[in-house]
Amino acid sequence: MPYLVRENLFIGNISDAAEVLQNGSSEITHILSVLSSVSISFFTEWRSGVVIPTKEIKKVCVGDGEDEWRSCLAANKVLYGLEYAGKDLKLVRMAVPVRDMESEDLLDYLDVCLDFIENSRKEGAVLVHCFAGVSRSAAIITAYLMRTEQLSLEGALESLRQSCESVCPNDGFLEQLKMFEEMGFKVDHANPIYKRFRLKVLGEFYNRGEKIDSSKFGADPGVPTQVSSKEEASPDEGKKAIPVYRCKKCRRVVASQENVVDHVPGEGETSFAWSKQKSGNPFNKSDESECSSLFVEPLKWMTAVEEGALEGKLCCAHCEARLGYFNWSGIQCSCGSWITPAFQLHKSRVDVSTA
Ligand SMILES: [Zn+2]
Ligand SMILES: [Zn+2]
Repeated sequence: MPYLVRENLFIGNISDAAEVLQNGSSEITHILSVLSSVSISFFTEWRSGVVIPTKEIKKVCVGDGEDEWRSCLAANKVLYGLEYAGKDLKLVRMAVPVRDMESEDLLDYLDVCLDFIENSRKEGAVLVHCFAGVSRSAAIITAYLMRTEQLSLEGALESLRQSCESVCPNDGFLEQLKMFEEMGFKVDHANPIYKRFRLKVLGEFYNRGEKIDSSKFGADPGVPTQVSSKEEASPDEGKKAIPVYRCKKCRRVVASQENVVDHVPGEGETSFAWSKQKSGNPFNKSDESECSSLFVEPLKWMTAVEEGALEGKLCCAHCEARLGYFNWSGIQCSCGSWITPAFQLHKSRVDVSTA
């Protein structure tokens, strides 16, 4: 039986969902399926004899919007499927393809899931389910409670456990929910927290041997962008001068402040203690924490990165001056922090200016 979490909001497992889909429900009108596949055939494969009629409303793929490369999701991947389902096609089912793995990107599905829950509760009642009703569905409902009730991760999880004791999102999901909290209950692609998460995900792709498509690289800030019709309509409106970094030798723009992935000097999961010894005086902290490098997102001019090497030089696309280094396994900043993966520009090779 599904557990009631809030008015018009239930959590359950695949059996609960199959029961509602096959026999209908006096309360539930909407279902959010969080399974490894969006297809209704997942139910048939799970238990033979389960046949659920569906009628597709729409299937939405990761689009090619301007901001799309900033998400972790591959272009053309299914973001969600929406259909009428069950007896007399009376239920509305949304399905998102999320596996219960620590490395799975949950963040990029939160917006569509939370909006679906919100809208469904206005029209009726919604059941959020995954396979066991323990990790994925719980993570999404936790995020929903965080956003709607402005609860901390711990607060939301504790509140959910009062309805359903067995909930236990996996550690990777908990980490991402913590980021969701730190970003103010939204998934903000421009936030340094999200940028670091994205680099980590790209690093995991690389380590698994997947080719990192240059569609995941940031636009080259040194090349004028194509002016979209939207921008033409409102020239210069609201445009702020964003600081840019230029090659010291030829002045080509190589990065903008938007591409910078900040780190806290001297901090990081794998900051090695021995690096501090080199400077001699451990109390001389102010000098020591001055970072001599800038770390950025991979950008389209970094052709050496696109070729698939583990590490290599980053050279200016115009004059070929050496600007820095990249390494998918990480580089240690002069402050002691390890940045993994790292796309590093030496501050001594670039100038900052507000163009
Ligand atoms: Zn540093
Ligand atoms: Zn140059």
